[in-house]
Amino acid sequence: MNKNISYSFEFFPPKTAEGITNLRQTRVALAKLNPEFFSVTFGAGGSTRDRTMDTVFEIQAEGYVAAPHISCISSSKEEIKALLSAYQAKGIKRLVTLRGDVPSGEVSVGDFKYANELVSFIRQETGDWFHLEVAAYPEFHPEASSASQDLINFKRKIEAGADSAITQYFYNTDAYFRFVDACLEQGIQVPIVPGVMPIYNFTQLARFSSVCGAEIPRWLRLRLEAYGDDMTSLRAFGVDVVTDLCQKLIDSGVKNMHFYTLNQAGTISKIVSNLA
Ligand SMILES: Cc1cc2nc3c(=O)[nH]c(=O)nc-3n(C[C@H](O)[C@H](O)[C@H](O)COP(=O)(O)OP(=O)(O)OC[C@H]3O[C@@H](n4cnc5c(N)ncnc54)[C@H](O)[C@@H]3O)c2cc1C
Repeated sequence: MNKNISYSFEFFPPKTAEGITNLRQTRVALAKLNPEFFSVTFGAGGSTRDRTMDTVFEIQAEGYVAAPHISCISSSKEEIKALLSAYQAKGIKRLVTLRGDVPSGEVSVGDFKYANELVSFIRQETGDWFHLEVAAYPEFHPEASSASQDLINFKRKIEAGADSAITQYFYNTDAYFRFVDACLEQGIQVPIVPGVMPIYNFTQLARFSSVCGAEIPRWLRLRLEAYGDDMTSLRAFGVDVVTDLCQKLIDSGVKNMHFYTLNQAGTISKIVSNLA
């Protein structure tokens, strides 16, 4: 394990008593890696609002830094204000600030269209109370009209007051390094923390990737597909691949990493223990 790297771990808010117990055990295991914070996702249109809050407050009560995700699509300013007040009242100081995925059908988009508007609103309402993270896309957001326009839109979030960014996951480190370089050229100086997705299950990974625009390189897809139902071998190979990815990032100077845990600790603990 490389003790100079700072880790953060993302969870989704569990739905069942079993899921809550499992997540507690996951936290005990990941806490051994001395993370900077644990973050908790927020379902589309506020669908997990209460569960996100409960999970965040439980993490905080255990003595860890907890960062709720907050997404603005389909929300009113009043709803966001109420959430911010609830978090401020409990002493939460860090938020992952997102737009969320646009709902299909005739659902209203609410008072905010893009994440930069949410960042501005939070700064206007709460000043510097919160450390604000935003999302970044080294392989570009699937709705972006072009790579350069996506970068301009990313810059709007930083100019609106974001302190740092976490990237969508990627398996191609060049995409990340080139994105960071392009940001520097645009005068964007905030930390851009790589988001790392461990490989647990090919079908699930392929589904996520087709939605979020993160590419699974052909060689990797074909190797993963070939494991079929042999999950033990697939996961061992996945640990190898993701360890290499993280090591390349570290060797190039990366000091922070954010893991998408899917509420599991074992694979991540192995990857982190492999890192030099
Ligand atoms: C680290 C991380 C955590 C996440 N957590 C969650 C979560 O908890 N809950 C959840 O629902 N989703 C989550 N997501 C997914 C995220 O909500 C989606 O990717 C969503 O589609 C975009 O969110 P955003 O905040 O990046 O949006 P934005 O930054 O608003 O960008 C969305 C799209 O609009 C474009 N755009 C942005 N601003 C403008 C503008 N002013 N004018 C025109 N176009 C613009 C961008 O180029 C981009 O294509 C997460 C993503 C990441 C990377």
